[in-house]
Amino acid sequence: MTETGALVLFSGGQDSATCLAWALDRFDQVETLGFAYGQRHRVELDCREGLRVGTAALDPRFAARLGPDHTLDLGVLGEVSETALTRDTAIAMGAEGLPNTFVPGRNLVFLTFAAALAYRRGLRHIVAGMCETDYSGYPDCRDDTIKALQVALNLGMDRRFVLETPLMFIDKAETWRMAERIGGAELVELIRTQSHSCYLGDRTQEHDWGHGCGTCPACELRAAGWRRYRGG
Ligand code: ZN
Repeated sequence: MTETGALVLFSGGQDSATCLAWALDRFDQVETLGFAYGQRHRVELDCREGLRVGTAALDPRFAARLGPDHTLDLGVLGEVSETALTRDTAIAMGAEGLPNTFVPGRNLVFLTFAAALAYRRGLRHIVAGMCETDYSGYPDCRDDTIKALQVALNLGMDRRFVLETPLMFIDKAETWRMAERIGGAELVELIRTQSHSCYLGDRTQEHDWGHGCGTCPACELRAAGWRRYRGG
């Protein structure tokens, strides 16, 4: 087990791109993991390599630390859940007060597979971009959920994994500020242009905050965060 090794859950979105830079700034050995689960915004997976290469190019330290990329096929998630993230239906609010983009158990499954991979790769830290602050109410983004899962994974695998969630208590504007602190304006520009957030997978329209349809909840959240970040 490498005490200073980390596995980053790396989807290709703004949050995970920031988490990658955060991890490269901190750990000696950093590997990345992406999931294909039948998401409509599958285009986000295509953004991953450009972000990896671009981030490594910012700092020789980062380049030396960045290790292999892994992708796992979790298409079964799309089979068990009828949600607007994996089906061609309109994004709307459900009766439970959760948007129908919620894929039940998604982060639990992601982190469990991440831990299994980290076990095999001998990496101690698992870095993920879950956030309580503007998380659309997804219960598996809550800090309590992640802490409970850390206990369960360590008991179940007899390891001392640390689940790191550096964005848990900050909003999207502060996430941009974090990127700026770690990698300056160059990293902000890389994430703005290369990362993908739009649930509909639209990369044909460019806005000052990046690419996307501009109207889905993920685009609205990203646009609002960018405005607050630029505003001060
Ligand atoms: Zn969108």
